This record gives sequence, C-alpha cells and structure tokens, in this order.
Amino acid sequence: MTDAARPLYPRILLKLSGEALMGTGEYGLDPETVSRLAAELRSVVSAGIQVCLVIGGGNIFRGVIGAASGIERASADNMGMLATVINSLAVQSALERIDVPTRVLSAIPMTTVCEPYIRRRAIRHMEKGRVVICAAGTGNPYFTTDTAAALRAAEMDCNVILKGTQVDGVYSADPKKVKDAQRYDRLTYLEVLSRDLQVMDASAISLARENNIPILVFSIHKPGALADVVVGRGMYTLITEAKDTAKS
Ligand code: UDP
Repeated sequence: MTDAARPLYPRILLKLSGEALMGTGEYGLDPETVSRLAAELRSVVSAGIQVCLVIGGGNIFRGVIGAASGIERASADNMGMLATVINSLAVQSALERIDVPTRVLSAIPMTTVCEPYIRRRAIRHMEKGRVVICAAGTGNPYFTTDTAAALRAAEMDCNVILKGTQVDGVYSADPKKVKDAQRYDRLTYLEVLSRDLQVMDASAISLARENNIPILVFSIHKPGALADVVVGRGMYTLITEAKDTAKS
C-alpha cells in the first residue's frame, strides 16, 4: 500500500442499517447485497484495518412500529434487537463464505447461537484480525443501533464511526426529495444537533461527541466507497468537534 493509500483509521466501527441489507426489496435480506457488502469489507480487512460492525434490524422489525400495533414497547424493542441478530448471522455467513474470520457477539446472551458481548474479548478478536459483529444493539429497549454503534466505538476505542447511508454524505434535506438540498463536506457535532440533521439519533451524536470519535457518513451503495473513505478518498461528510481537526 502506498503512503497515499495508508488507512487513516486503524480500527473502524461500521454501522450498517437493516435497510442497507435489503437491496431494492421492501423487506428482509437481499443475498446479493449482503455478499457485495461482505466483499467490500474483505478489502478493508485485508488492508490491515480492524473492523467492528454494528448491524440494525429495521429491514425486519422496528420496536416503534410493533408498539404502535399494540405490542408492549419493551417487548417490541426486544423483537427489534432479535432482528439485528438475524442480520448479524447473515453477514457473518457471507463474510465466512469468502474466508473472512468473524465473531458475532450479542448484547442479549444467546450462547448456543453466538458469543455474549464482552468488551475485552471483542477487542482481542479484532487484534487477531477477526471482524467483530455486534448484535442486539445495546441490549436495552428504548435505544437504537445508532446509539449502540457510538457506545461500542467508545468502548473499543475505535478511531471512527462509519455510517453507511443511502446517499454520499449529509444533506440539509433528503436529496431524493428536495432537488436543491445542500451537501456538506464537514460538519461539527453541534451543527448536526442544532440543525436537527438526519444522520444518527441525537444520543448517538452526543456519545460520539463526548468521546471525540469522528463520524464519517458515506454511501453504502457505491461500489468501492468503503475502501475509499478509510483512506480519505471519495465522497463523504466528516463530523467532528471543530471543522479543522479529526482524530485518527
Ligand atoms: N433496539 C433496541 N435497543 C437497541 C438497539 C435496537 O431496542 O439498543 C430495537 C429497536 O426496537 C429498533 C430495532 O431494535 O427499532 C432495530 O434497530 P434500529 O431501528 O436501530 O435498526 P436500523 O434502523 O439501523 O436498521
């Protein structure tokens, strides 16, 4: 690897929403999309970057929707967290098919399916070159996997939170709906919070801010984007405390 392509971030946390695994479908998992993401991840792992994944579950179940249909909120959220385990096992299988070693660690212990989440063990796995897939969010209802991503990134001393989204960065409004929405290259945590920009939920942004972990927002659909952004190339929005600094 040339100097120009040296990773800026030795240990990354990638947050993948359930939606990123759906492909063009309306629900569930698209095997082709999951395989493509696994191949993208392999290229990053083979560049020597330690990778932790936090996977959402919105493609299968969202607690708030369950609660709206009469399921008690805490139970509905537990169902949502179980959905993230389903997604995590699918991504694990796709990665292992292409010889990327992985471990799924669940915040809700289910020891016959995967390991329980233990911080030191998760770090050890990453040091050994295994992709750690954090399932079941924070393990608590009333949270989201965005918050779980910020929490795990802080606990495991990740250098950046990568948020793979539908578009190539943060915009002032949804660019798919608003033609002249403004795109930002750089933002501060405070700007995201005060302008209520739809990046991650406010608790996730605050947690990243308190721990000074940059958030990098990029398109999960663009082939090669993941490998590009970890070396500072391609299109992305970087969110930090001040616009001229970034932890690396
Ligand atoms: N969830 C939860 N606690 C957590 C993380 C997730 O209760 O710490 C539940 C919540 O019901 C949520 C669902 O799991 O709606 C799926 O997670 P999320 O909505 O974050 O998935 P994404 O939007 O990223 O696909």
